[in-house]
Amino acid sequence: MCEASETAAAQAPLPPQGSEPVNKRPDWDTYFMDIAHVVKTRSNCCRRNVAALIVKDYRIISTGYNGTPRGVRNCCDGGCERCHSNVPSGSGLGECICSHAEENSITQAAYHGISTKGATIYVTLSPCLMCSKMIINAGIREVVYDEEYSVTEQTRAILAEAGVTLRRLAGYRRPMLTRAPASPDAAP
Ligand SMILES: [Zn+2]
Ligand SMILES: [Zn+2]
Repeated sequence: MCEASETAAAQAPLPPQGSEPVNKRPDWDTYFMDIAHVVKTRSNCCRRNVAALIVKDYRIISTGYNGTPRGVRNCCDGGCERCHSNVPSGSGLGECICSHAEENSITQAAYHGISTKGATIYVTLSPCLMCSKMIINAGIREVVYDEEYSVTEQTRAILAEAGVTLRRLAGYRRPMLTRAPASPDAAP
């Protein structure tokens, strides 16, 4: 090495020790979960914001976020009486007119005539029993989630029996987004 290049190498800025390179690419799980968190910002539910992303062969085939059905007044504008009442977490769900994110991502695929068979679903919150039944019957083979709401034993059992993998994304760090999430103590 000549003296000039030695000097250039010595002057090249080095990343601080222990920090990650600026241009480090996210792995696929992180990439899809980050996108799901962006989709979540479109949720119109006043209780909680959740999103789902259906992926097949590394391609996003459908997205969904929770809220009132198409053509019905948005939950945040008073469309869902149950969400606007002070019912405690987890109760009155039979009267809730907000669709769940998983439900919307599956029906959105159906709406556009796209098969979900063999796909993976990324969800920002672990799935409920109702959505797990839909996931199974939509032919989805894997569920990857970020935050854990309350995965019941029954939910775990039917997913396992149907051969659907349920996996929490370990060590995942949520992206910084401009819209504040719904209150952490709000219930779906
Ligand atoms: Zn709602
Ligand atoms: Zn659900």
